[in-house]
Amino acid sequence: MGYIVSILYIVAFAMFIYGLSGLTGPRTAVRGNYIASVGMLIAVVAVLIDVRDTDNWILIVAGLAVGVVLGVPPALCTKMTSMPQLVALFNGVGGGTVALIAWAEFLNSDGFTAVQTVPSAPFIVGSLFAAIIGSVSFWGSLVAFAKLQELLNKNLEKKVVASAKAFQLANIILAMVSIGLAVYIGVNADGDPQSPWLIVGLLVAAGVMGLFVVLPIGGADMPVVISLLNALTGLSAAAAGLALNNQAMIVAGMIVGASGSILTNLMAKAMNRSIPAIIFGSFGGGDADGGTAAASSGGTVKATSASDAAIQMAYANQIIVVPGYGLAVAQAQHAVKEMAALLEDNGVEVKYAIHPVAGRMPGHMNVLLAEADVEYDAMKEMDDINGEFSRTDVTVVIGANDVTNPAAREDSASPIYGMPILNVDQSKSVIVLKRSMSSGYAGIENPLFTADQTSMLFGDAKKMVSEITEELKAL
Ligand code: NDP
Repeated sequence: MGYIVSILYIVAFAMFIYGLSGLTGPRTAVRGNYIASVGMLIAVVAVLIDVRDTDNWILIVAGLAVGVVLGVPPALCTKMTSMPQLVALFNGVGGGTVALIAWAEFLNSDGFTAVQTVPSAPFIVGSLFAAIIGSVSFWGSLVAFAKLQELLNKNLEKKVVASAKAFQLANIILAMVSIGLAVYIGVNADGDPQSPWLIVGLLVAAGVMGLFVVLPIGGADMPVVISLLNALTGLSAAAAGLALNNQAMIVAGMIVGASGSILTNLMAKAMNRSIPAIIFGSFGGGDADGGTAAASSGGTVKATSASDAAIQMAYANQIIVVPGYGLAVAQAQHAVKEMAALLEDNGVEVKYAIHPVAGRMPGHMNVLLAEADVEYDAMKEMDDINGEFSRTDVTVVIGANDVTNPAAREDSASPIYGMPILNVDQSKSVIVLKRSMSSGYAGIENPLFTADQTSMLFGDAKKMVSEITEELKAL
């Protein structure tokens, strides 16, 4: 039977890797996801075959049932705009599971003093690493969820961000406590049974560290932190796999850990930030109001109508559409595609400028636009399109805000100073579609909205785009 389990594992690993390779492009991403999911199903079946002699079937089936009941309905029902929160929660659950496994193994072996089944060093080191990182990842992901769901009180959040230094100090102490406890447990693993409170202390210290690391992180850094937490969950699962001598956990954990680390690195680079700078001093780490005051110092807001916007767009040679989170909220992607098709039929070139953190998850805008069959070639990454704004007649910003904020480039007092943005303000004319003058995720005002070349088209993005389309048809 053992060789069947090994063959199933190898098939599962091949499917994980092949599935992951599908995620490198939007065309193959859905298929890649299905392939990797089937791989995971095969790995689960292999584990069940492996433990066939267990007398814990009721527990195993109950665990599977709870997972299905808690996991499937939210995955099916969650709206696209809330997907990042769901991903943060699922990621947290992974980290929490790993921490619980490590806790259970500690209790089962009297504090790792009765380890006989596997070589004890990888078991003990793997379990302790999994306990720390899994706990950090679980509690950190819960805070990320609360921030994305906007459950945290804004004033409290501002106070926390302003006291980032105190949190950093606390984190150094908590890291020392967790590592100190881990070393103590590890060193005493060949002696008398150890107190169960040692692992509780370690899990609590690491958990509070997870809370304290993510709580003071400012708006614009959240995408990088979410991907970092994802990488940590993968690494903790791999460590737990090492401890349990389970190849499926090691391979799946390493794949998540490695791909999460690469994504974290890419996103940090795209945001012009280093990982330590994000963890130890966030965007928004200063006084968020400072940036707001500077940004709101001048300019008047010019409102426009759908018919005026349509006339401007109809006579343009090139239009750049800048999608943002509001496009996802309004589900305006199909309306945008229809408007663009009409413009293209009239000889206007339409391109889409994609900022790496537009929306609320990596690739959010690409996914939305692909859903509406926007050509992949028309979606341009920030570095490729930024040089084009200055020779563009009209830029249409649809539900985007922070990713177009020139304060990030020009105002050193701004909490998002240094974050690369789309240079929309360099375009000859800018039309911004949003419902009001309210701020975006980073909570700061945007001087683009009061710039000379900008006019605001207030309303729901889908409704306003549809109105422009009707006006274009009537021209
Ligand atoms: P923003 O959050 O900066 O702004 C979105 C704008 O959309 C708001 O100002 C809002 O204005 C408008 N809006 C909301 N609903 C509608 C609607 N129905 N119709 C029209 N407009 C609407 O979005 P961006 O995409 O510019 O920036 C993303 C931000 O999110 C960045 O700060 C990024 O760091 C952060 N973030 C990104 C993550 C990622 O992985 N991509 C993850 C976590 C955070 P109004 O209310 O006036 O309509």
